[in-house]
Amino acid sequence: LVTATGVFLLVTQSESHPGEQLPQDPTKPTLVVLGSGWGATSFLKNLDTEEFNVVVVSPRNYFLFTPLLPSVTVGTLEPRSLIQPTRFITRHKKRDVLVYEAEARTVDPINKTVTFEDISEVKGKKGSVTIPYDYLVYAVGCENQTFGIKGVREHACFLKELSDADKIRSKLMDCIETAAFRDQSQEEIERLMHMVVVGGGPTGVEYAGELHDFLIDDLKKWYPEVADRLKITLIEALPNVLPAFSKQLIQYTESTFKENKIDVLTRTMVKDVGETSVTVQDANKEIREIPYGLLVWATGNTSRPITLDLMSKLPATQTQRRGLVIDDYLQLLGAKDVFAIGDCTATQYAPTAQVASQEGIYLASVFAKLGQKNKYERQLAELRASGTASADDIEHVVKKLNRATKLTPFHYSHQGSLAYIGSEKAIADLPLFNGNVASGGGAAMLFWRSAYVSTLYSVRNRTLVMTDWIKVKLFGRDVSR
Ligand code: NAD
Repeated sequence: LVTATGVFLLVTQSESHPGEQLPQDPTKPTLVVLGSGWGATSFLKNLDTEEFNVVVVSPRNYFLFTPLLPSVTVGTLEPRSLIQPTRFITRHKKRDVLVYEAEARTVDPINKTVTFEDISEVKGKKGSVTIPYDYLVYAVGCENQTFGIKGVREHACFLKELSDADKIRSKLMDCIETAAFRDQSQEEIERLMHMVVVGGGPTGVEYAGELHDFLIDDLKKWYPEVADRLKITLIEALPNVLPAFSKQLIQYTESTFKENKIDVLTRTMVKDVGETSVTVQDANKEIREIPYGLLVWATGNTSRPITLDLMSKLPATQTQRRGLVIDDYLQLLGAKDVFAIGDCTATQYAPTAQVASQEGIYLASVFAKLGQKNKYERQLAELRASGTASADDIEHVVKKLNRATKLTPFHYSHQGSLAYIGSEKAIADLPLFNGNVASGGGAAMLFWRSAYVSTLYSVRNRTLVMTDWIKVKLFGRDVSR
């Protein structure tokens, strides 16, 4: 393994490949970026690659626009409308960026290396690869929280990745088709048509809202024999849904759900998940079983194994299981030249796309300064080595170098939170309006839609999303599996 700055060889566990030396500039430091989510993508979009050899490693070779993911579960939006290849961003950079579709397994913050593995399902040469970094941007996100509850991973569907939304869509249609099959017992129809959502955070609420729209707009037309049997239940352990939103918006959501016949079971905690029913404990501590056809699990997020492993290597500073502890400049405490952004960190901010995205933009500005700093240091070394540079020349570069080392801390500017709650109603928690805008009808939908469309990263994605909305308006949702 060669770790000289900027030059490295790919080294597998079993053998090395001298032929695979990367076409990178040996005078420039290597910057490894782990992830392709909100944090990593906004960082890459804003990064000036001029002064670095950039390597991106992520198990997903695309960015997913997660706020609209619930719309994919019922066919309002097509999956591909929400994704953008990571290479779409990197290929427009000034210098070549290496992108590997692979899963990072470990980070060694002492020797400054990252080990990753090709997780592709196709046959071919694979293996574990270890590369050195000079700087690491750690933006691996987090994984679904199950609280160790039995049966969740086996029987429930999560709503985090594109494949999750696909799985939900397919399972939902399977339940409906099976309920509509001849000679089903009434009890079985009731179970199959019972869609249970666990977790009353924004993910669970938005999913329940989308499912309601699907029922009203489409299922009633396509499956008149069973559509009326569809029941949606939202289970939340706390006394109300959307704990992070204001009281007024919570009430608005709960009353909208009541009108839409979405059953909200608050103060109810799921204790166990079986193949066809969940066991819950209600406010009176009574235990009961709730049969279901489809179970969507949206109880929040937790640290990934690679993050827990990294924490264990830095026991003196990384003391929070919730996520990585960083300083005001997004540097990982206890590790040199490692920056962490997004949901994998434990900060004063909620783990949202908005925070990760702003952190990415800020970090790109830190790297702009780092790039300048490295450049001026190189110039200074050259001037001093030449022996012919005047004191003024040296002084000039020193001044520039000093400017490049001055950083301002990260500052988060909250633009507000939005959530779609079904039947063309959206809630918005906007700082500008003192925190509360709750409304229904065309105006709210238009606001929600335009806010999300304008946040989509590319014209291509914007066009695809708007076309999907028009298609659904004209022809309804596609009910095929
Ligand atoms: P969350 O953490 O916001 O909510 C999970 C909910 O599940 C909690 O209210 C919790 O009390 C409940 N819960 C946990 N265990 C339970 C159990 N066993 N039984 C019943 N209920 C249980 O999770 P989320 O909705 O996935 O959101 C994650 C993060 O992403 C949050 O920071 C959120 O703000 C953000 N987000 C925002 C939006 C938006 O603004 N539109 C959309 C999606 C996610």
